[in-house]
Amino acid sequence: MNTTTNAFKMAQQQFDHVAEQLQLDPHIREFLRWPMREFHFRIPVRMDSGDIRIFNGFRVQHNNARGPCKGGIRFHPSETIDTVRALATWMTWKCAVANIPLGGSKGGIIVDSATLTPSEKERLCRGFINQIWRNIGPRQDVPAPDVGTTPQMMSWMMDEYSKLAGQYTPGVITGKPVGGGGSQGRTEATGYGVIYNLREAMKTLKIDSAKCTAAIQGFGKVAQYAAIGFAELLKGKVMCVSYWDRNDRTSYTIGHPKGIDANFLKGITDQYGSIDKDKAKEAGYTINDGSAWMQKDVDVLIPAAIEGQINAETVHTISKKVRIIAEGANGPTTPEADEVLKSRGMFVIPDFLCNCGGVTVSYFESVQNDMNYYWPRKEVLERLDTKITAAFNSVYETSQQEKVYMRDAAYMVAIDRVVKAMQLRGWI
Ligand code: GLU
Repeated sequence: MNTTTNAFKMAQQQFDHVAEQLQLDPHIREFLRWPMREFHFRIPVRMDSGDIRIFNGFRVQHNNARGPCKGGIRFHPSETIDTVRALATWMTWKCAVANIPLGGSKGGIIVDSATLTPSEKERLCRGFINQIWRNIGPRQDVPAPDVGTTPQMMSWMMDEYSKLAGQYTPGVITGKPVGGGGSQGRTEATGYGVIYNLREAMKTLKIDSAKCTAAIQGFGKVAQYAAIGFAELLKGKVMCVSYWDRNDRTSYTIGHPKGIDANFLKGITDQYGSIDKDKAKEAGYTINDGSAWMQKDVDVLIPAAIEGQINAETVHTISKKVRIIAEGANGPTTPEADEVLKSRGMFVIPDFLCNCGGVTVSYFESVQNDMNYYWPRKEVLERLDTKITAAFNSVYETSQQEKVYMRDAAYMVAIDRVVKAMQLRGWI
């Protein structure tokens, strides 16, 4: 079996598969297989030592037929133009499936942000904006946080853009801190969005969530709030989470026989998702290797780390007990693994539906920035729930009508909306 390890090839393969089923016009297909625009740049940064270090940055704008491009910025040591292309493409489908009037983009810098001091981080963020500011903006392309970036970094970037543009422009970037142009509920939006999707999935599959267990990969923001939401909103039990230990440079699965207390673990986790495992051990937690989460006898798996984790090699380690995979991460499942999951009849909530909560609240944030009027948390989360419920149901209904896998159904819904917008604008 061939393994697809290149994320962009994976995104194209998923798209091609559905484009074929839809008999999509070959010119439209060729256009949507590739991003519309790409920027590659070098960012010189003065380090605290006084030396200059050069960083490589990318911004990829995949499609803006439905509105300004939208998508996060990753700071990741193994970032490549192809990972950014894939993530930008998935953003187009994500915004379309969430039915928010935005296109898709993504940015990346090749760097491990944990190795930078706060002042180096600030200079790198400002340097990124210096390179790209003419090609982003509230009506062009709106960045946001992703792996390795934080609300504080978004604030520095917004400030740099505002200085260059000569006016305060909070809507140039989302995921800003509350009190600095950010929206209530943005931090927990992606994780809660995963849970709203799961709630809807369990309703349709007639599964009692209170009797369910879950295993989660990752313990960054998405995983933390998915874990909290699984216990608090669904009344289920999260048996373990996995995380990347920065000190040991390895990953572990950390679990508790009675179910983890996500709020406790969050309290002993640093800003990069690294848990203090000694404190966890003292509190009765067990530590296993980083792949153990996927082999757990649980009802739900939530990959909420990075792409390519459920692949041709690992998919066979998934327990027969698992009924639902809720993809909190972007691109966690390769096309080869999808074939295996399909043949097993697994119910998969595909990434760009499952994790669309973050960008949905980013959209609410930009609406609030435009109005200069801010909503309470309850209102944000209620609006988010309404959007997610509608998105899940449109994908689920399509999967039933067309008798297709949930990922293919999500692509059908998204492609249809993007193609319609391109037609209305007279592009095709
Ligand atoms: N980075 C997040 C994602 O992949 C959020 C993007 C945004 O808020 O624009 O969906």
